[in-house]
Amino acid sequence: MRMSKLYMPTLREVPSEAEIPSHKLLLRAGMMRKLVSGVYSYLPLGYRIVKKIENIVREEMDNAGSQELLMSAIQPKELWESSGRWEDFGPEMFKLKDRNNREFCLGPTHEEYFTSLIKDEIKSYKQLPLNLYQIQTKYRDEKRPRFGVIRAREFIMKDAYSFDKDEEGMESSYREMWEAYEKIFTRLRLKFKVVEGDSGTMGGNQSHEFMAMAETGEGLVAYCDSCDYAATDEKAKVVYSIEPKDEKEKEMEKVHTPNATTIDDLVDFFKIEKRNFGKALVYLASREPVVVIIPGDRELNETKLCNYLKVPEHELEMADEETIIKISGANKGFTGPVGLKEDVKLIVDSRITKLKNLIVGGNEKDYHMKNVNYGRDFEGEIVEDLLLIEEGDICPKCGESLLIDRGIEVGNIFQLGTKYSSSLHATYLDEEGKEKPFLMGSYGVGVSRTMAAIVEQYHDDNGIIWPLITAPYHVIITIINVKNEEQKDLGERIYKELLEAGLEVLLDDRNERAGVKFNDRDLIGIPIRITVGKKANENIVEYSLRKEEGRIEIPVDNIMDKIKEEFEKEGMEI
Ligand code: ATP
Ligand code: MG
Repeated sequence: MRMSKLYMPTLREVPSEAEIPSHKLLLRAGMMRKLVSGVYSYLPLGYRIVKKIENIVREEMDNAGSQELLMSAIQPKELWESSGRWEDFGPEMFKLKDRNNREFCLGPTHEEYFTSLIKDEIKSYKQLPLNLYQIQTKYRDEKRPRFGVIRAREFIMKDAYSFDKDEEGMESSYREMWEAYEKIFTRLRLKFKVVEGDSGTMGGNQSHEFMAMAETGEGLVAYCDSCDYAATDEKAKVVYSIEPKDEKEKEMEKVHTPNATTIDDLVDFFKIEKRNFGKALVYLASREPVVVIIPGDRELNETKLCNYLKVPEHELEMADEETIIKISGANKGFTGPVGLKEDVKLIVDSRITKLKNLIVGGNEKDYHMKNVNYGRDFEGEIVEDLLLIEEGDICPKCGESLLIDRGIEVGNIFQLGTKYSSSLHATYLDEEGKEKPFLMGSYGVGVSRTMAAIVEQYHDDNGIIWPLITAPYHVIITIINVKNEEQKDLGERIYKELLEAGLEVLLDDRNERAGVKFNDRDLIGIPIRITVGKKANENIVEYSLRKEEGRIEIPVDNIMDKIKEEFEKEGMEI
């Protein structure tokens, strides 16, 4: 491709909403453009990258025995009602009506549709296992679209669905997809971790997330360096050690604590450790008030709370002041488990039942209660673990300390069990002629998000540093001065030869200053660079790589050898 003809509208300035490198650089490099919040278009360079990622995903899915198809994005309401997700998916679902007032959505994911597609055709265990996938545009009206294509409202996803006759089959399909994903993200040169994830509204037994590690990632990963334990912050199990104290239960006491509303105020006031406070959090879960008591030194994990309450996350919100006053009789900061005003659901993290002589809110303005003990002074629904993981927590598998890093979720695999097949009555006949629901799995890769994740891992101050495998072009030839015949002719000649050799080549034949051309090639991140300048008359060019400092002069005849060397290093063929 000649850059004089290329549609590559680079930008000097990016909008202030572009906070992270991938968002800024993909816009600046003219690879994508925003239409409205969370809705992007891929311009020629960007679309080449998307297609390369898609093709790697496609190859590995095909190798793993999955079959590609393409389904519609528009899906009728009834399909989603049969699984209960028309409601459960919540405001994230884009809904629309046709001219006859019939309701539809733009598919945010396709579990229901795939299940209903196959249920009338797959009748016998002999037709199983079956694994189908598509690469398609998905729609989710995200609460907070941000970071460009990382959290978009329209995005490209590869989604696959497996159907098996039993648990064993489902587990082996899951394992195959896991392995395919490892191959995909390894080939894409991403530094990633596979971590236990929460199944959320997807339902099912088990899930793992593939996290591309990046400081800018929205996801937190708790992991152990001594063993292989790794989980998202939503999922990670908190082991909270309480040293057995031979403390006696003291008499409960009401204490005047004017203006002490935060845990820190109370630490100052009572001069004791944070964990001796029973922190009360008031939520509305599906509009019903819920009070949760956790140790004062920890934060609540809302995902664990939603799972316990069986409400989707969008149905959980912090209670407003009015609700708090209604249930506790006092404003925020004085809520506690003893003497709540109404018959409100009280949930207690199991650790609270083991701590003695707690200080808790007094449900009265400017008052707290001292020496409060679970069982004697209050009771609630005990939940094993409602806490959010923190760095330094004990690894639930080996007992060492956990570390926490940030990552971008690029893939997600789920064992769904029979959640969808049961609700959609999707069954097959087993060896004995008995009707049984399929055991399913679903497997997603965020194709457009992956493009941004690669940029997060591969960039510097000057621009993107594409790994060869996803680069929009392999080689860029820069002609320093296009008005110089010798330079121009040599540039053209090399361009032609490299194209004939099967390479993807950009020729910078623009009548621009050398500085502009160098800046642009840094910005768009083409891995292999040939610069044709003053020594064109001696058939000598400069050879350099985007990822490395330094450049060397080489005779034109050596160019192909150098390029081949680079391909070999990357495990690729020309
Ligand atoms: P997240 O927790 O980031 O919202 P999710 O769990 O909702 O992701 P899945 O439903 O598992 O995501 O979707 C499969 C994959 O699609 C994800 O692993 C991610 O790579 C991608 N994806 C999900 N939501 C978005 C989005 N809003 N924009 C871009 N990619 C997305
Ligand atoms: Mg999501």
